[in-house]
Amino acid sequence: QAKALGRNSHSFFTKEMNVGILRRFEIEEQMRGALERKEFEVYYQPQFNVESGAVIGAEALLRWHNQSLGTITPDEFIPIAEHTGLIVDIGRFVIEQALDFLNTWQMQSKQHYTMAVNLSPRQFRDNQLLSFIKSALQQSNIPAEYLELEITEGVLMTGQSFIDDTLAQINAAGIKLSMDDFGTGYSSLSYLRQYDFDVLKIDRSFVNGIALNKADRDLVKAAVAMAHSLDLMVVAEGVETKEQLTILEEFNCDYAQGYYFSKPLPAKAFIKFVNTYTYKFGKQ
Ligand code: C2E
Ligand code: MG
Ligand code: MG
Ligand code: MG
Repeated sequence: QAKALGRNSHSFFTKEMNVGILRRFEIEEQMRGALERKEFEVYYQPQFNVESGAVIGAEALLRWHNQSLGTITPDEFIPIAEHTGLIVDIGRFVIEQALDFLNTWQMQSKQHYTMAVNLSPRQFRDNQLLSFIKSALQQSNIPAEYLELEITEGVLMTGQSFIDDTLAQINAAGIKLSMDDFGTGYSSLSYLRQYDFDVLKIDRSFVNGIALNKADRDLVKAAVAMAHSLDLMVVAEGVETKEQLTILEEFNCDYAQGYYFSKPLPAKAFIKFVNTYTYKFGKQ
């Protein structure tokens, strides 16, 4: 048996796997010190009221520009930041930046907007999370109700008891709670019943199919109705076409975001976008 294993072992580690492991090491290495080198930048993707077409807020999405690695997507570096624990400091940076930006945006537009920030499981193990967020809100002069924390069922699945406490504290503080990527997990429904969510975000894989197939259309329609019966607002993610938006409006989906309106933008470009946004998408 050992012989058989030995004979095959060189093909067990494929070239692709080696490259993957090396890249992972390099990312980990580069990530230490990346905050100090100011390599992270928060981008903002606008969110829209489906019915009126008005901008209602933004989602903060992290970008990392590194000298030797180039620009790396969060799908690649967030899991590594989770693993090393660096996500705690990086996540605090995102919260601070996003609230600071929201303050600037609100001051210049003299209107209120919401800011959605993604939180991953490891950030919840930081028992200073809530006190950090509260003081960040205070420093930026933002009432708690304009901050929305997006979590996936991955946060809830860890089953740790303090999760319940943290979620209760978030609620008590008046901060909004949003279920991200709805429909991709196994237990989102029972979590919706168990916890006090304010917003449900329908995953873009479903939105992607609504103009093409009945199954996705039916699912999205049912998800919106179900969310509304639980008093949740609904955001459709990844809206790319006018057809998708029209169907979402028909289903009474509240809000939408996606490339159809705008990609996530750096702060300056975002302000420029909202300042020049004068017409209602899909209703011109
Ligand atoms: P997410 O929270 O579900 O974010 C939505 C993702 O979909 C973003 O990818 C966004 O750029 C992309 N997207 C938006 N509209 C469209 C569209 O119309 N079409 C397509 N194809 N894609 C669209 P991004 O920015 O690469 O982020 C990926 C994931 O990384 C996020 O998924 C979120 O889970 C995580 N992430 C991003 N920033 C942070 C952060 O600051 N902290 C944590 N913990 N996670 C983050
Ligand atoms: Mg999100
Ligand atoms: Mg999502
Ligand atoms: Mg609530």
